[in-house]
Amino acid sequence: MNTTLASINVKDILKKASLKVTPQRILILEVIKEKGHATIEYIYNEVKKLYPSISIATVYKNIHNLYEKGVLREINPQKDKAFYEIAFSNHSHFICTSCNTIYDIEPCEKDLVEGCFNKIPGTIEELELNVYGVCKNCKQD
Ligand SMILES: [Zn+2]
Ligand SMILES: [Zn+2]
Repeated sequence: MNTTLASINVKDILKKASLKVTPQRILILEVIKEKGHATIEYIYNEVKKLYPSISIATVYKNIHNLYEKGVLREINPQKDKAFYEIAFSNHSHFICTSCNTIYDIEPCEKDLVEGCFNKIPGTIEELELNVYGVCKNCKQD
């Protein structure tokens, strides 16, 4: 059976991570699931539509919590602006330096990567590569 990100139930994710299921957390995860890769600012603005009284500190705290529990992955394209995604599949990212769009890319074989670098001081267990460039949309005209 193939699970896709779309079929994921965010409540199950929270339960699996032994995190309390709160409406705020559900909403935060739904926003990220919908967007794919989202900044805290974006998540905050979306969550605020339903919870106008929520503070950015609360959103930040929850995201940090989810990140620490391994529910979210952090992608840091330009150090000051981190993007978050649901830690679902192991993939790498192509980040457009012009429009800041993040594209998921399939990772290549670990031994292929090992061959690309000089002397990796250990064994690769997980691949998390960020590839930077200018995307097709920005290259046109
Ligand atoms: Zn672009
Ligand atoms: Zn991704």
